[in-house]
Amino acid sequence: MTMHVAIIGAGPAGFYAAEALATKGEGVMVDLIDRLPTPHGLIRSGVAPDHQTTKRVTKKYDQTASRENVRYVGNVTLGRDVTMDELRDLYDAVIIAFGAEGDRPMGIPGEDKEGVLGSFAFVGWYNGHPDFVDLDIDLDVSDVAVIGNGNVALDCARLLARTEDEMKASDLTDEAGEVLFNSAVTDVHLIGRRGPVEASFSIAEMREMGELQRGISLVHDDQIPEALPHGMDPKEARGRKAVLEVLQSFRGNTRDQAPVAVHFEFFLRPVEVLGDDRVTGIRVERTKLEDGRAVGTGEIFDIPCGMVISCIGYVSRPIDGLPMEYGKVVNDRGRVAPGVYVVGWAKRGPSGTIGTNRPDAQDVVTLLLEDMSDGAGKQGGAGLDALLIQRGVRHVSYNDWLVIDQAEQDRADPEAPRRKFITIPDMLSVVDES
Ligand SMILES: Cc1cc2nc3c(=O)[nH]c(=O)nc-3n(C[C@H](O)[C@H](O)[C@H](O)COP(=O)(O)OP(=O)(O)OC[C@H]3O[C@@H](n4cnc5c(N)ncnc54)[C@H](O)[C@@H]3O)c2cc1C
Repeated sequence: MTMHVAIIGAGPAGFYAAEALATKGEGVMVDLIDRLPTPHGLIRSGVAPDHQTTKRVTKKYDQTASRENVRYVGNVTLGRDVTMDELRDLYDAVIIAFGAEGDRPMGIPGEDKEGVLGSFAFVGWYNGHPDFVDLDIDLDVSDVAVIGNGNVALDCARLLARTEDEMKASDLTDEAGEVLFNSAVTDVHLIGRRGPVEASFSIAEMREMGELQRGISLVHDDQIPEALPHGMDPKEARGRKAVLEVLQSFRGNTRDQAPVAVHFEFFLRPVEVLGDDRVTGIRVERTKLEDGRAVGTGEIFDIPCGMVISCIGYVSRPIDGLPMEYGKVVNDRGRVAPGVYVVGWAKRGPSGTIGTNRPDAQDVVTLLLEDMSDGAGKQGGAGLDALLIQRGVRHVSYNDWLVIDQAEQDRADPEAPRRKFITIPDMLSVVDES
């Protein structure tokens, strides 16, 4: 009997799970459900608009979506349009792949002030995620503090320094471009609790920091060691050495070399956001490393800034009927409850690259197929469609998305890959007009 599986979330993890099911499982029908009319999750709304090569992986997802036993059901939100209980009644198995769509709080006083935001929101805004298009980003400020020492922090710092010319082959939204290219930002403070050796920067992103048209990267020379510490795992050491070499090349750079400076501030942890209603600065404490952990030294000082962007990780949003802990869905190797599984960031938390989600999803699908080899005569997609019609919820197909995709490409400037539609009504209108 056909086995009906619903996957919630059409990001990388959802697509890799769909591909594994569609190719491995005989007699399997997959509904890939996403809350947006546009699929691809953070590849569209997270990966930086000037990193178009990374986004090409979606071509593989097109192949998955074109399989006869995979159906994309966009514009349907779990928790609003349909509940977990309903999905469990309709499908033999449900795979959660809804990522981690909330910013992890910094947990310091003042973080609710105006001008403080998380990277999910900031990145979503410049990438045209419909949730964040109305965000009032005021870049009429000279100094911005970016908290975190990973690639997302580098993305944010780089985008604040980029020129219009550098972004012309990107899919940065017009609205964000208008704000970013006219911003008054001159100094970006990249604040990390630990040191240059511990930072989770990738070499490609790091190199870009040395090639900004109107930006100069500055380091405190005495914070950048000559070499990596002894005894580091050789595989890890290779990447870290390359990153360290780029940081070493920033020694001797000076503030007057470019209009925008990115200050790499290692060994600092934020302790308070300053200001009345709006942020005016960030209070930080100098740290030192003890057994690899950053501990405060008691030396406190303030960095004036008009905006704070925290890039310290993400948490999954709670959904009725799903056990959650530490910002993730509680699971044992991907098993959540009988017939319920989880993959991707919702399972592991916000770490790893797009590719990391592939073996992870494949492993969970293997477990699922071990647990159940046949369907139990459930309604699957036909039942979902009936429920959505009854509720007046309009869903979109993958062909509808391809219409939106083509329209975005058609209206783009010659060098840009696409000009995104950034509201759901606009996306649906394009489908209606086709
Ligand atoms: C800013 C940023 C930049 C990144 N850059 C890179 C990079 O350059 N290279 C790289 O390899 N990796 C990068 N990553 C990591 C990569 O994007 C993730 O590994 C990957 O997207 C995680 O996949 P996922 O499917 O678990 O989650 P997501 O990609 O977040 O997908 C989740 C999907 O679920 C949907 N959804 C959420 N809630 C619901 C709901 N209630 N109902 C229905 N659908 C829902 C969402 O709309 C979304 O489509 C980046 C991440 C971020 C945050």
